[in-house]
Amino acid sequence: MILSPEAITGPVFEQADVCIIGSGSAGSVIAMEMAMAGYSVVVLEEGGPFTRPDFNKKERDMLAAMYRQRYSDDLSILFYQANCLGGGPVINMADCVRTPDAVFHMWEKNYGIEDMSPARMSAYFDKAEAILKTDKIKDTQLNRNNRVLKDGSTSLGYRGDTFHTNREHCVECGFCPFGCPYDSKQTTMLNYLPEALAAGAQLYVYARADRVEQKDGKAWRVTGSILNPVTKRKMAAVEVRAKVIVLAANTINSAQILLNSAIGNESGLAGKNLLIQPHTMVSALFDEELKGYRGIPQAYFCDEFEKVDEDIGLSGFRLEGGFTTPGLVSTMMPGFGPGLKERMARYNNMANVVVLVYDQPCGQVTLNRYGRPVISYQMADATRGAMISGMREAAKVLFAAGAREVMFAHEVPTVITDLSELSILEQRGIEPCSQLVVSFHMQGTCRMGADPATSVVDSYLESHTVKNLFVVDASISPSTVSSHNMLAIMAIAHRTADYIITNKEKYFGSTV
Ligand SMILES: Cc1cc2nc3c(=O)[nH]c(=O)nc-3n(C[C@H](O)[C@H](O)[C@H](O)COP(=O)(O)OP(=O)(O)OC[C@H]3O[C@@H](n4cnc5c(N)ncnc54)[C@H](O)[C@@H]3O)c2cc1C
Ligand code: SF4
Repeated sequence: MILSPEAITGPVFEQADVCIIGSGSAGSVIAMEMAMAGYSVVVLEEGGPFTRPDFNKKERDMLAAMYRQRYSDDLSILFYQANCLGGGPVINMADCVRTPDAVFHMWEKNYGIEDMSPARMSAYFDKAEAILKTDKIKDTQLNRNNRVLKDGSTSLGYRGDTFHTNREHCVECGFCPFGCPYDSKQTTMLNYLPEALAAGAQLYVYARADRVEQKDGKAWRVTGSILNPVTKRKMAAVEVRAKVIVLAANTINSAQILLNSAIGNESGLAGKNLLIQPHTMVSALFDEELKGYRGIPQAYFCDEFEKVDEDIGLSGFRLEGGFTTPGLVSTMMPGFGPGLKERMARYNNMANVVVLVYDQPCGQVTLNRYGRPVISYQMADATRGAMISGMREAAKVLFAAGAREVMFAHEVPTVITDLSELSILEQRGIEPCSQLVVSFHMQGTCRMGADPATSVVDSYLESHTVKNLFVVDASISPSTVSSHNMLAIMAIAHRTADYIITNKEKYFGSTV
């Protein structure tokens, strides 16, 4: 059953086998697996329930309803997260990428992660892909924007391909980040969560978990607030007592909850080791109309400059075709005022390439005096170098595809009409707040590892110090898990559910 604030008249008290905080990529998998295995499950989800009739294709409405947007403490980086039932999959671009084998090998070698070999994980990836109905985008489905990336990179001899995605009967309308109005995107709202509900899970929406408490070394209850859906102010208290508590609130919020709860942080690493896969955008104007907002928005990638090995995992950068609606595109354009207006008037003729850079842990989440997260991130020199190289390569690809002008997302307009002008990128550099840097794939703040001194959770994602407390979301990756992390998070969550069920006596006692 989905329980909304309208039905709540006083403090909420629940007792369950499993309490899950967050209903996104990780939380929805655990909810389904545990409920289907016969356990009582309560999910607390801070966001609201949005479904097909709510998705009105208006970025103004949908961003406000379903997103969390935050800046780093120096305002140099913009972070996008979901704030809705179903989490990231409801608003994401539906690209489904498996973790490269070398990343799993590296985790075993460098962090002592057990039982997570590519062979072991393969069945969990298969399961998640079957539920999400993943399929490869066909060449005929590339829109003009993604075609530009493909044509430009292919003509330069660069490697690339179309994505696998969780879409079925897609009508190619282009509104994926604002909720799919056709239920073509196979989000958690169409598979994992309905299965969890059918198996008896209770899903509280507009229910924010604030703290997790321990007793005798075991997690035992979650306390939080039922929020007014409009004002987001506290309407009632909520308390859930559970034998197993699963934190699945995403990288920023899971760290926030651990820090506010003052538990599970004996290593001092909760909130530390943040990686963000910084993105920037390179746009271009073409003579002909491309109408890049039509069609599947993010369908082709060029991974010529991406490397993966067993020492550091993923490094370098990749280019992706990514386009969206005018409000968001305008935030990526150089300059302000009349210049920006003039560029936006040529929106139909624009193409956009996303530069996704692989970084190493360089940031952290701490709390301000109100217990809210503060994100700081100091971009490493190697990451700046990779970002500049990525912008250069994006410009080369765009010119190769026939662009007249290439625009970089600097505050001071940086527009070139010829490759000979590319040195402007080194002149501008990557200075904080001087250009658009965005993150969609934050990871690492509750990293897993074998050593309690250098990690927050163990190889099965249970806290090293608080028994029966699991962190199962993007925060557990000690290095970037893949170019897009939804599928990997789901596969890892399937494995953790399997582990809890296999060890049921340990977690639920002999009566289960
Ligand atoms: C615009 C966008 C596009 C993306 N595109 C892709 C893509 O194409 N492919 C891909 O693989 N990845 C993509 N991602 C990333 C991916 O969606 C996320 O990394 C992934 O969903 C993270 O999974 P998670 O379980 O850690 O958190 P989420 O899926 O974010 O779920 C966390 C849930 O917890 C809830 N929550 C937070 N705090 C609390 C609290 N205190 N109490 C209760 N509930 C709470 C949130 O509201 C949310 O529903 C994209 C992300 C964004 C923002
Ligand atoms: S492009 Fe396809 S998946 Fe995306 S919103 Fe439109 S119909 Fe849904």
